[in-house]
Amino acid sequence: MDILITGGAGYIGSHTAIELLNNKRNIIIVDNFSNSKKEVLEKIKEITKKDFKFYEVDYKNEKALDKIFEENNIEAVMNFAGYKAVGESTQKPLEYYENNITGAITLLKVMKKHNVKKFIFSSSATVYGNPEKVPITEESKTGETTNPYGTTKLYIEQILKDLYKSDNTWDIAILRYFNPVGSHESGLIGEEPNGIPNNLMPYIVRVASKSLKELSIFGNDYDTKDGTGVRDYIHVVDLAKGHIKALEKLEKENQGLYIYNLGTGKGYSVLDMVKAFEKATGQKVPYKIVDRRPGDIAICYSDPSKAQKELNWKAEKTLIDMCKDSWKYITRS
Ligand code: NAD
Ligand code: UDP
Repeated sequence: MDILITGGAGYIGSHTAIELLNNKRNIIIVDNFSNSKKEVLEKIKEITKKDFKFYEVDYKNEKALDKIFEENNIEAVMNFAGYKAVGESTQKPLEYYENNITGAITLLKVMKKHNVKKFIFSSSATVYGNPEKVPITEESKTGETTNPYGTTKLYIEQILKDLYKSDNTWDIAILRYFNPVGSHESGLIGEEPNGIPNNLMPYIVRVASKSLKELSIFGNDYDTKDGTGVRDYIHVVDLAKGHIKALEKLEKENQGLYIYNLGTGKGYSVLDMVKAFEKATGQKVPYKIVDRRPGDIAICYSDPSKAQKELNWKAEKTLIDMCKDSWKYITRS
């Protein structure tokens, strides 16, 4: 039986592909390389010493997807494909709604046709909007997303809930990621945003490697321990392992809709991140304090205990691992 991974050449999908292959699973990757490179597929093979099928296909292409399901024996789907840049989504809302939502609906329709009903979805802590309290549990209020990207995640979650209500033989895991960082310990694959990074860790890495002059810290007047924003950073390999546990859960239960936070449960400020990075790598990260970034929230970190209890999954890597591995990827590539 095969596990279909849409967006498997991307940052989180490629790390999950490795974990699946290491767990002796057969995988099939579908990607259109809109935000990734073909070479990643070779790196996955190099790291795992295993082969897999690949299709260069847009997951909104129903015909092409249908053919993939006909040609293979697909048991479950992990859907990583989608656009993910918060800022860009405010400039290109139609493209975001189309790619993320139409893509997900097309995929689900084809799955239904082929009676494949195990689905793991990459959601995000962004569905919680500005949380009323932390740590955030899966029962915390969702909604009031602050950008079209976040809204696509919220809407797809709703679509999945409605789908499950209409037919409870579906088996769905919605995984709400907190802030993924780091890369595979080999340093062969990692996060490579196009252009100037929006996210903190890729920006820090570019400053340390001197391709950017200094980090702009967006505000030091938040109600946090040092005034800078607090987030729950999670190593991408821990996150990838969470997907294996979610898949095992779906295989065991064989019907249900489950929602899990995948985070560490620890909140680190921007200044904590700068200090940790400097300590882990010995590199300097010059910074200046600038105005708050519009739409940013002060604090966001998870209560990951549900995933620990029900999936037997817990993030294990430290902040130092996250910084070291992010740096390793940049210095090797
Ligand atoms: P990524 O951009 O690195 O990977 C997404 C992959 O999907 C890319 O390889 C891209 O080429 C592919 N893709 C995009 N549209 C496609 C289409 N129409 N057809 C086929 N392939 C397509 O992103 P990532 O960081 O690996 O994120 C994976 C998923 O997790 C996304 O859905 C993202 O929204 C979600 N997520 C990411 C984060 C994060 O901070 N990285 C946080 C929460 C949730
Ligand atoms: N941040 C920053 N400078 C940057 C990028 C991010 O100060 O160049 C801060 C941001 O304000 C937030 C934290 O770092 O407090 C994490 O931001 P990121 O965009 O990585 O994640 P998100 O805000 O989406 O959780």
